[in-house]
Amino acid sequence: MASAATLPAARPPPRDLDAHDKLALDVEGDADLDRAIAAFDESTMDSADPMVVMSYYRHLLPFRQLFTWLNRASGSAPSRNFTHREFAFTLQNEAYLRYNSFGTWEELRKEVLRLNPARFEIGPVYTAKPKDRKTVQKTSFKPVSREFVLDIDMTDYDEIRTCCSGKGICRRCWAFIAVAVEVLDAALRTDFGFRHLLWVYSGRRGIHCWISDEEACALPDDARKAIVGWLEVIKGGASAVKKVDVGSGGTSGRNLHPSLRRALGGEGPGGASGPLKRAFVDIILTDQECFRSAEGYNRLLALLPASEQEAVSKLRSKWDASPSRSSLDKWQDVMDCANRAGELRSRTTWRPAMEDIVLQYTYPRIDAEVSKHMNHLLKAPFVVHPGTGRVCVPVDPAKVHAFDPQRDAPTVAQLFKDLNRSRAQEGQGWEKTGLKPFVQMLEKHCKGVADEARVRNRAKGLDQMDF
Ligand SMILES: [Zn+2]
Repeated sequence: MASAATLPAARPPPRDLDAHDKLALDVEGDADLDRAIAAFDESTMDSADPMVVMSYYRHLLPFRQLFTWLNRASGSAPSRNFTHREFAFTLQNEAYLRYNSFGTWEELRKEVLRLNPARFEIGPVYTAKPKDRKTVQKTSFKPVSREFVLDIDMTDYDEIRTCCSGKGICRRCWAFIAVAVEVLDAALRTDFGFRHLLWVYSGRRGIHCWISDEEACALPDDARKAIVGWLEVIKGGASAVKKVDVGSGGTSGRNLHPSLRRALGGEGPGGASGPLKRAFVDIILTDQECFRSAEGYNRLLALLPASEQEAVSKLRSKWDASPSRSSLDKWQDVMDCANRAGELRSRTTWRPAMEDIVLQYTYPRIDAEVSKHMNHLLKAPFVVHPGTGRVCVPVDPAKVHAFDPQRDAPTVAQLFKDLNRSRAQEGQGWEKTGLKPFVQMLEKHCKGVADEARVRNRAKGLDQMDF
């Protein structure tokens, strides 16, 4: 649920009040949208203004595509995946309305236009239509299906990132999200066999993954919990010093799970770098300089093997004597210690500790609670983030490193500028704006899901013939 802290403060009215009135008229009546928006000045337009959000819903939000995505059917008729699906609305006054459901996407659109919510969330498919839940027995109203979802938020990186804090995000901290997407996308596809993943920018400083595979949607809560528990490597909360425990191994070294090995890269000095080792050098050592400050390098020293007291205290003296030594140089010092310790201690003690440090600083930090329950509500793709005015757009995982949320996620103000140029028809506005590639990304995703549903239905049909 939205908290007061995530909502924008009271906004000054747009400078051109006349234009504001025209837009209001347009929403209520049939006045010419182009004329109304043309009067708006992009530099003063507030993307989170309720009237602006209303116009976004009316002219730009791709309701039909959202329906197709949630419907997960081979045809265009509404299935239970849509009609029995919960929608929750957060109104402009913070009121939170749960258990809404709709027979068609047109009904959903109509209600969104009537309520003009600050945002809306998507929940599970229930045994009955959520709006009728009071007419069925309490015990028989249960969630039965829901995309498996993952949530990654920059908040969980606050103790690592040095460029921003709190609600801030920049291109540099997006790098943490990008490597998280790269690693999780590979794990979900390779280790679990999921195929239909939709990654969606959360509008401020995080990303969601929605998995639409039939098997993923049917997962009961304990299976969701097991998967996210398996994917979670960083544990222990803010107060824990060491947050990674992936086993120590014996004298022959340790056998990391292949998924972690793939993410890290090859063992030892000659091993090829995986995404995490690359991220450690590029983000942690070079860009963020996480070990330059005394606080930063003391955290690193605390993660080095406790059994190597002498080497660790030598490092401490060296770094205390030259506090501005770069993070890259400090990590080189650690590697030199590992090499001097001899092959056995290097393999059994230093290298596992160093790999754990790489994992602790770069492995995806998942907000596990979001994934564990089928009935967790999650903000719908394509809604507008109330604090930033940015649209929650899908992100191609293959291009996630190049994505810059501040440059590439459109704001409502930018989209209206596009609309204004094109004089679009109501309901198909997005095609004329910077929203188009993102809607097409969702359409492509839907096609993959629908194709598979078709194949499955055909197989079921053949099964029934087989008597
Ligand atoms: Zn930053």
